[in-house]
Amino acid sequence: MILDRFRLDGKVAVVTGANTGLGQGMCVALAEAGALVAGVARRSCAETAAKIPEGQFFEILADLGKTESAAYVMEEVLKQFGKIDILVNNAGIIRRADVVDFTEQDWDDVMNLNLKMLFLLSQAAAKQFIKQNSGGKIINIASMLSFQGGIRVPSYTASKSGVRGLTMEMANELAPHGINVNAIAPGYMVTNNTELLRNDEKRSSEILARIPAGRWGTPEDIGGACVFLASAAADYVNGYTLAVDGGWLGR
Ligand code: NAD
Repeated sequence: MILDRFRLDGKVAVVTGANTGLGQGMCVALAEAGALVAGVARRSCAETAAKIPEGQFFEILADLGKTESAAYVMEEVLKQFGKIDILVNNAGIIRRADVVDFTEQDWDDVMNLNLKMLFLLSQAAAKQFIKQNSGGKIINIASMLSFQGGIRVPSYTASKSGVRGLTMEMANELAPHGINVNAIAPGYMVTNNTELLRNDEKRSSEILARIPAGRWGTPEDIGGACVFLASAAADYVNGYTLAVDGGWLGR
């Protein structure tokens, strides 16, 4: 039955950036679909854990700005659950400044977390999926700036455009192993990431006026796309970046 193909009972899902925002929304959605969820974050995921039945959520504290964290996260997941089925690369940061003032630090910090760590975790998960001979699902969180240029966010645009390209690249190489690599491109969502934008009255009303759905998105809005791409219902979806944007890109 088709709805059964969306169920994730017994699957182990790893979600980075699980303590708040879209990561929290996806943890809850994956758990509601039946998955055991390992949430990775720098800070406590107590708020996320409180939204999920006891025993279904496990927290891994790690700074994903450090490359050695990729191996650590995978070790912890295997120690706790003995396998991995789904990886959601959600942790991401943004830095805003004019191109002419943009610092090397703001370039490196964003690229290292949003793109390099996403690759290292995907690589570690892919190795494990192949070892398990189980197939697997990798879901990367992209952005409207995987399709558009944006303004005053050069490293963010570079990283998120990279995420979309890398999603296709990894999908091509990993599909023969039964591994699906796809991405979700959220539109303008109410989280910490967009706090500065939402506090800027002019930018905020300009953005809202351009969203056909007439509202900003929420962490709950992304859950359906995440569960779909994590499930057997998406077994023949490879390398695609799915916009969840209230119509922004089509406008
Ligand atoms: P958020 O700031 O609420 O969440 C970011 C998450 O990343 C947090 O859980 C944070 O703990 C984690 N994180 C940041 N640095 C980390 C580090 N060094 N180590 C471990 N974890 C770290 O923002 P959000 O909007 O929920 O962002 C989630 C993802 O969605 C990001 O990749 C972001 O770029 C993307 N995104 C957001 C929007 C939006 O409108 N909010 C739009 C497009 C894409």
